[in-house]
Amino acid sequence: VQMETEIPAGDRTLVRGTPISSPDRVIFPKPKTTKLDLARYYDAMADRILPTLADRPASLLRLPSGLEGERFFQKHAGKGFPKAIRSLPIEEKDGGTEQYIYIADAEGLVAAAQMGTVEFHPWGARRDRLDRPERLVFDLDPDEGLGFAAVRRAAFDLRGKLEELGLGSWPMVSGGKGVHVIVPLRRTAGWDTVKLFAQLFATLLASGQPDRYTATMAKAARKGRIFIDWLRNERGATAIAPFSVRARPGAPVAVPVSWDELARLRRANGFGLKAAQERAWSDLTLPADATLGEPVLARLEALREKQA
Ligand code: ATP
Ligand code: MN
Ligand code: MN
Repeated sequence: VQMETEIPAGDRTLVRGTPISSPDRVIFPKPKTTKLDLARYYDAMADRILPTLADRPASLLRLPSGLEGERFFQKHAGKGFPKAIRSLPIEEKDGGTEQYIYIADAEGLVAAAQMGTVEFHPWGARRDRLDRPERLVFDLDPDEGLGFAAVRRAAFDLRGKLEELGLGSWPMVSGGKGVHVIVPLRRTAGWDTVKLFAQLFATLLASGQPDRYTATMAKAARKGRIFIDWLRNERGATAIAPFSVRARPGAPVAVPVSWDELARLRRANGFGLKAAQERAWSDLTLPADATLGEPVLARLEALREKQA
């Protein structure tokens, strides 16, 4: 017979040294998920979240009173922030300097959850080399009414075309409607190169299959199509972190999957907190980091000429 361990009443709400206030506040009604559940989730998932979140400037999507209440993105550190949420000065385009938030460890994740953070949105670069992105991300955004099968097919299309260029990629279901196709990069190229590559690549796909894809953000251009959102690849742009919970009904989680698994998935928001916790990064074979250099750009140019 298993003995019940006595937990002192005051300790239940202490997670990684952070006391969680209003621990029983319901953040998601269905499945019922409290603020304490979220803090514990992020504590338990630190080993899986931190590899792609730690030491990147990150926006926090905060919902202090839960799914139905107000929500706001926060990218700058505020007064009265706990020490566990770090900040670094970053020069803005207009020349001024602002303090940007970054998370460094599990303590930071939990401290953010204590402040009502549900979603974590990192930049594509780490703080030691902010000018050298570490990944490309193509965020596939289907028009309303397009099913997941179309998104899935698009993701495989991108994978194939990227492979032709010598770039390995992995997919992540966003926890919303789409899939992010992610290319880990060696940190050699700067933002200009990475953004230009992303734009040219998205445009190449859209002009090759204009009935299925658009590389234009305007909603009108999306009609019945998938927007290949390449704009996540500029300095200051963010994308949802792998294993972040989403502030959407059902408390879905953004989950990296293998290509084989993606082929069998039926939706982008099918993983909840529990399913996410049963997964590991080691379920995936991540491609070796690629160099976005002259050879890749030359191959892209050749593809463009072939298609033209
Ligand atoms: P879905 O699959 O439903 O599209 P998503 O996370 O890809 O989910 P998008 O609206 O396509 O959602 O946004 C892509 C990314 O762009 C987000 O994950 C976020 O990092 C960033 N983003 C979008 N809107 C904002 C915003 N208003 N403020 C800050 N960042 C945003
Ligand atoms: Mn999207
Ligand atoms: Mn988008």
